[in-house]
Amino acid sequence: MSSLSPNAFTLHGGCDCKSIRYPISIPELSARLILPHEDPTGAEVRSPEIFLEHCDKCRRVSGALLQAWLSCPQEWVEWGTTSAEKPPTFTRLNTADLTSSQPGNLPIINYASSERIIRSFCGKCGTNLLYMREHQSKENPVPMVDIVLGSLDGESLERQGVRPDRHFY
Ligand SMILES: [Zn+2]
Repeated sequence: MSSLSPNAFTLHGGCDCKSIRYPISIPELSARLILPHEDPTGAEVRSPEIFLEHCDKCRRVSGALLQAWLSCPQEWVEWGTTSAEKPPTFTRLNTADLTSSQPGNLPIINYASSERIIRSFCGKCGTNLLYMREHQSKENPVPMVDIVLGSLDGESLERQGVRPDRHFY
């Protein structure tokens, strides 16, 4: 059972060199997507899910023995970069735009680790940022993205309930 705040809140994160930044806008509890599976107690599960992943692919791609993810609908996340201009401007891209040939001015690198699976990294500093499917299945019609939990800002990681509470694979 998630201990996240039931109120709407925003998490922030990005890569180490700050070329790529993102906000995740989490709506209030009643507006969060209900997922097509239950938790171990049989209770309803809503996005976001925060979990530890033990699969070989994630281990290798992250270079870490465990990969922690925050999984949510793509529409909750926007991508951009802070410019050197004063005041800085923020480019807003949808998650699906990251795989276009010209993803704004973001130095993003996309890697197809499996068929229809995209993993994205910062092309300047190498920070591992996300995992997504190019097309959704009938079982999961809402486009989802998994954000690397460790790419969140420290203040966001310290929010109530922003902790893995499940293990997969
Ligand atoms: Zn970077």
